[in-house]
Amino acid sequence: QAAWQVLAKGGSALDAVEAGARWAEGDLCNSTVGRCGNPDRDGVLTLDASIMDGDGRCGSVAALQDIVHPVSVARRVMEKTPHVMLVGEGAQQFAVEQGFAKEKLLTPEAEKAWREWLKTAKYQPQINAERAKLPGNKENHDTLGMLALDASGKLAGACTTSGMAWKMHGRVGDSPIVGAGLYVDNEVGGATASGVGEEMIRNAASFLVVELMRQGRSPADACREAIDRVVRKRPQASKTLQVCFLALNKDGEVGAFALHKG
Ligand code: ASP
Repeated sequence: QAAWQVLAKGGSALDAVEAGARWAEGDLCNSTVGRCGNPDRDGVLTLDASIMDGDGRCGSVAALQDIVHPVSVARRVMEKTPHVMLVGEGAQQFAVEQGFAKEKLLTPEAEKAWREWLKTAKYQPQINAERAKLPGNKENHDTLGMLALDASGKLAGACTTSGMAWKMHGRVGDSPIVGAGLYVDNEVGGATASGVGEEMIRNAASFLVVELMRQGRSPADACREAIDRVVRKRPQASKTLQVCFLALNKDGEVGAFALHKG
């Protein structure tokens, strides 16, 4: 809805996806994105985000600490620097220079969940459908990925996450990696991903979905083929991990596919 309000007023796809991603980053009920995300195994909340328009302009931040809106910092990287990606301390320094407020982000709930996790300290990404069977067991990874097409026919996408809960400190997922968690091209369409990011990086997966659409596949078929690629690379591992794609082509057709239900 936050994104749609922008488009409904004739705003750009880029402004729309940023607004949508910002909404999720500020959401007080989301343990996998922004302010309320779960921390890494050392109890530190680190955020990853990217933004891209269909003209190939893009920006991203990885392992950013104590800044609420990584997607907006990613946009500043795109618009105000000669670079595409800033990480860790450098990303935070840039954000502060750009006027973003620094605030301690770990919520009491996330800290409690981390202390609970420390009892076993077992890194185990959960598939949504399986999770549903485990009472009281919360989502331990997800991403907000968003694609938009505006009235002028331009595309944009954004992707934001706190990554895999209990990841190693310094681990970077697919979401801030252009081509892995997000890719957009005005000639074809856009794609974004959620799920265990290592698989998306291995397969340059969002780029793959866009290239499959370029070859004539529908958005849904392109997403399905990219999932097949993930499975072919690691048939055994893919039984226990979740990978999902969303795609939108330049004609406004949408598609999605996930490896597992949920
Ligand atoms: N793709 C995210 C990451 O690997 C997590 C997720 O979307 O489930 O950081």
